[in-house]
Amino acid sequence: MGQTLAEKLLSLHTDDAVSAGDYVLARVDWMLMQDGTGPLAVRQFHALGGESLAFPSRTVVFLDHAAPSPGRALSNDHKFLREFCRRYGAVLSEVGDGVCHQIMAERYIGPGDLLVGADSHTCTGGAFCAFSTGMGSTDIAVAMTLGKTWFMVPESIRVTLSGTFSEGVTAKDLILYLIGKLGADGATYQSLEFGGGALASLDMESRLTISNMAVEAGAKCGLFPSDEGTHRYLERLGRGEAYKPISPDADAKYVREVAINLPTLTPQVACPHTVDNVYEVTHDRVLGIPIQQVVIGTCTNGRLSDFIQSARILKGKHRHSDTRLLIVPSSRRVLEGLMREGVLKIFIDAGATLVTPGCGPCVGVHAGVLGDGERCLSTQNRNFKGRMGNPEGEIYLASPLTAAATAIEGKIADPRAYL
Ligand code: SF4
Repeated sequence: MGQTLAEKLLSLHTDDAVSAGDYVLARVDWMLMQDGTGPLAVRQFHALGGESLAFPSRTVVFLDHAAPSPGRALSNDHKFLREFCRRYGAVLSEVGDGVCHQIMAERYIGPGDLLVGADSHTCTGGAFCAFSTGMGSTDIAVAMTLGKTWFMVPESIRVTLSGTFSEGVTAKDLILYLIGKLGADGATYQSLEFGGGALASLDMESRLTISNMAVEAGAKCGLFPSDEGTHRYLERLGRGEAYKPISPDADAKYVREVAINLPTLTPQVACPHTVDNVYEVTHDRVLGIPIQQVVIGTCTNGRLSDFIQSARILKGKHRHSDTRLLIVPSSRRVLEGLMREGVLKIFIDAGATLVTPGCGPCVGVHAGVLGDGERCLSTQNRNFKGRMGNPEGEIYLASPLTAAATAIEGKIADPRAYL
């Protein structure tokens, strides 16, 4: 019987051809943890009696969520993780290098790989056609000790994309629309598998945005086939040799099929306090709502193409006087790109504040915590109550284009008016 991408990828890491519903023990290529989840993973590694890492050079520790550290306890967590890396040979990604998922995309992960991470948005790696998924810290401790872990092979939902985006509409609008349609638990422990003619023009940075948010519908992973677009991107990153083509079989079996014609999509906004609470930007529930802070960045939309899109709208304009604008490159490489392309100056001239590459305000540890009753429009992936450090704040999620238009008007705005 034909295989879905999830079945193919897990088969590559076991000695069998596996099917949805099977329980498998799979070999792991990459393991990641970050400064929020890492200390527990390391303590569990010790509690399990771990004496060495199965693959030290494939175990990556990121200091990205509280970077630079805003307090003593977090500084001590960083110290603890640095000491762990020194002692056991794990790879350390330091403060300022960037968000774990972006660095994995830039430096490490490739088609056919299996990545597990102590971070729920590890599903980002599915853009490369890697089985890439988040797990708890204890599961990661087991994987880094044994170099393998168990899975139930997920069922798959096929999402067929056709056409190209209209002006002002992006991958973020697509994934918000899909999550609104499926619901926050609409794909629980399933694999979202993307395909269709639209993939020929859907670049890798767009695919990374889409895979990143698969977990917001409950999905185990969000997978794209590995194709010529994957190959070109890997070559741009200097990792062309990692390319291998992988696609699902024509007779693969899906539990559900969803078709989306991209030209019919409009800019979308997710309203507080759930990611599936999605409206078109022109809806009365959304358009014109005053916003005190706009954030452009994070592992969802903090890549060079995201900032270039926003800069198209912000060039020669200034943020509204009542609205703060924070920009957070997802990595040092992205920051270098912003400087090289002259994009950073457009943001600085527009009154933006540059935050250290990393998670920035996304997780509410520092750098941009909201005041009581304030509203933020962010390009991040979650808007749960209290997510940005204050349960009395409200978070709206949207694309980098909508964020730029909103920063100018000081209220949620339709980006199409600026293009
Ligand atoms: Fe998590 Fe936000 Fe950091 Fe992404 S940017 S890893 S969603 S805290």
